[in-house]
Amino acid sequence: AHLDRIGAVDERVHAFLHVDGDGALAAAADVDAKRVAGEPLGPLAGVPIAVKDVLATKGVPTTAGSKILEGWRPPYDATIVRRLREAGLIVLGKTNMDEFAMGSSTEYSAYGPTRNPWDLDRIPGGSGGGSAAAVAGYEAPLAIGTDTGGSIRQPGAVTGTVGAKPTYGGTSRYGLIAFSSSLDTPGPCARTVEDAALLHAVIGGHDPRDSTSIPAPVPPVVEAARQGASGDLSGVRVGLVRQFSGEGAEPGVLAAYREAVDALVKLGAEVIEVSCPHFEYALPAYYLIAPSEASSNLARYDGVRYGLRVGDDGAHSLEEVMSLTRDAGFGPEVKRRIILGTFALSSGYYDAYYGQAQKVRTLISRDFAASFEQVDVLVAPTTPFVAFPFGSRTGDPYQMYLADLFTIPSNLYGGPAISVPCGLSEGLPVGLQVMAPTMADDRMYRVGAALE
Ligand code: GLN
Repeated sequence: AHLDRIGAVDERVHAFLHVDGDGALAAAADVDAKRVAGEPLGPLAGVPIAVKDVLATKGVPTTAGSKILEGWRPPYDATIVRRLREAGLIVLGKTNMDEFAMGSSTEYSAYGPTRNPWDLDRIPGGSGGGSAAAVAGYEAPLAIGTDTGGSIRQPGAVTGTVGAKPTYGGTSRYGLIAFSSSLDTPGPCARTVEDAALLHAVIGGHDPRDSTSIPAPVPPVVEAARQGASGDLSGVRVGLVRQFSGEGAEPGVLAAYREAVDALVKLGAEVIEVSCPHFEYALPAYYLIAPSEASSNLARYDGVRYGLRVGDDGAHSLEEVMSLTRDAGFGPEVKRRIILGTFALSSGYYDAYYGQAQKVRTLISRDFAASFEQVDVLVAPTTPFVAFPFGSRTGDPYQMYLADLFTIPSNLYGGPAISVPCGLSEGLPVGLQVMAPTMADDRMYRVGAALE
């Protein structure tokens, strides 16, 4: 049924870069055989899922939205993908994204943008717009995204779906095409908070193949989502971050946010205002740290090891082949980040830029730690604006970067954060973000589920 739905709508939505119909049907038959044989099946066995094209899928094309990886078929599955398959989920295919997960609209995909099912003339968010649109457009009940600065939560917010960024290190990066290794975090996209928690429980947990994976069990996210669904938040202390709720957000977004806060109070939560004094430095710090790590991570696309190779005709030197390949294979936003990151890491500038940004990161982490001494969770709008029309923010990179103004701080800190739908502005969905301390992912599921 989902393959039929994809066939019917994806020409317009373009959520998928690759649909693996045969693979999906074979996997479904496999699960069904187990069911018939009476073998034990997990709670999500047989449920179809879409996977962001930044995760390696064995034998199935994996491009990260870039021409430089066109035609690459990984020889292995990412840990997340392996866990999906082992739990009996049916991988439908790979979803569209901004090239190398850099962007907030999918307009930077080398394969054309994804459209928002709410309004086909508007962006579905990014970088994981394909995963969010697949879920919003009923092409898949679940999807996997990755969040480095907001790429699960912001697409969730603008498509009226749920997107959760787990604690950094709570989900494996093995087989994830690296953008910014100290920030990259895979997580669930779903239509309900409980669905997201069920998926989180399948993909999360320690992975010895990822050196930054946390050696601890997944927090009790499913139980927390079910507890929250009862609608009782008495005893829960909710922090409103002063700096997150004023400047920069559209009035309609702020109105929906305030209504969500009122709803939390009605459910019994105690609301306390807290402060994140270094908030204003989060975006600039992110746009030094993430490009710096990207400039290093993307050095491996040299025309030798993967996908595209240009100029290999005997008339060019090795260095020329590398430079021709990188010039043809990377889009303008990726080049901008490589140049910025290379500059920030270069000798003589390192302390002034990368070093300073790392210090800001520490200060923001301290702001969060201090807040979490007073409250259990923090809430904020997920993103300052509703789904915007195509082309309206591509002229000035900074306008695009602003989409992640409210999501970036929790990436710098490393804690979990979820976006849940909280009403409409101008007929378009708005998301409420719930942030929690590291490894307290269960708290955000509880509060998120209470709002549904
Ligand atoms: N929009 C942010 C960026 O362009 C976040 C991307 C992400 O989370 N992958 O870097």
